Amino acid sequence: MLPDTIAACQQALADGPDVKLVAGGTDLLPQMKTGVLKARKIVDLSQLPELKVVERLGDGGLRVGAGVAARSLELSSAVRDGFIALAESAGVVGSLQIRHLATLGGNIANAAPSADMAPPLLALDAICVIQGPSGQRRVPAVDFFQGVRRTVLAPNEVLVEFIIPAPGAGSGGTYVRHTPRRELDIAVVGVASQLSVRDGRCVKARVALGAVAPTPVRASAAEARLEGEAVNAALIDEAAELAVQAASPISDQRGSAEFRRHLVRVLTRRTLSTALERATGLAASRNGAH
Ligand SMILES: Cc1cc2nc3c(=O)[nH]c(=O)nc-3n(C[C@H](O)[C@H](O)[C@H](O)COP(=O)(O)OP(=O)(O)OC[C@H]3O[C@@H](n4cnc5c(N)ncnc54)[C@H](O)[C@@H]3O)c2cc1C
Repeated sequence: MLPDTIAACQQALADGPDVKLVAGGTDLLPQMKTGVLKARKIVDLSQLPELKVVERLGDGGLRVGAGVAARSLELSSAVRDGFIALAESAGVVGSLQIRHLATLGGNIANAAPSADMAPPLLALDAICVIQGPSGQRRVPAVDFFQGVRRTVLAPNEVLVEFIIPAPGAGSGGTYVRHTPRRELDIAVVGVASQLSVRDGRCVKARVALGAVAPTPVRASAAEARLEGEAVNAALIDEAAELAVQAASPISDQRGSAEFRRHLVRVLTRRTLSTALERATGLAASRNGAH
């Protein structure tokens, strides 16, 4: 069915746990094809205008609907100017065709450990806005994931949008992933970093890792090492070493656990260096954050 209000969507979901939501269908349809997932009824979210919003808030924050496609995020100036890590992660999803279908909400609700758009949401302190039968609730992105393909969403809840606080002037971030192939491959490891620098010192650090644990995780020890310090290459090396502690990777056909730990170290170093460059460049120009 094709509801045009969230209320109608909710009514449809009340019909039972085998009623499933579909946004772009790029995760759901392959799962139905292979029999991983069975559905009696499909509720198509594509006609819900609330889910398509991309809006800068009065305080400089960002509101992004769950139904916004990766391609729109990748190109949106509202996202790129201040929330570049999210735009960069959207830009590496699948292929151009996939990015026109794949939504942010679908990527997050599907909760694959390798979901590319998840680490930037953690690094940017995003809040997930969830609509249930008795109203809305807000869950920090870092608490949204519960395991491989498991989230806090109840079967009768819809992920409506994400609210991302303004990183502010003097903040910079980036997302980088490693894949053996440039396109149409999933992350062996993905890292998002965001640094805020004021008067030469790091006032806030975020490092979020993807594909190295059942859920995306924050590298808290690395963040704590950076906060309050004047960040330089030696400190970034230390933080990269500490980030490895947050990873509990598996070995599979795409890489051993040891290789993944090595990638965490390398990509954390790389993303922190870029984040620092962007943060300090902007701190000087007073133009906001990347
Ligand atoms: C060829 C190919 C390449 C891919 N490459 C990548 C890649 O590089 N990186 C990557 O991260 N992913 C990749 N994916 C996976 C997929 O494209 C993304 O995860 C995408 O963002 C999923 O979004 P969707 O809108 O298609 O989700 P759907 O398939 O429509 O939904 C996915 C799940 O989320 C639920 N859902 C969707 N929207 C909501 C909502 N608003 N509220 C509650 N539940 C919801 C659905 O019920 C379903 O369980 C790839 C997939 C394919 C087929």
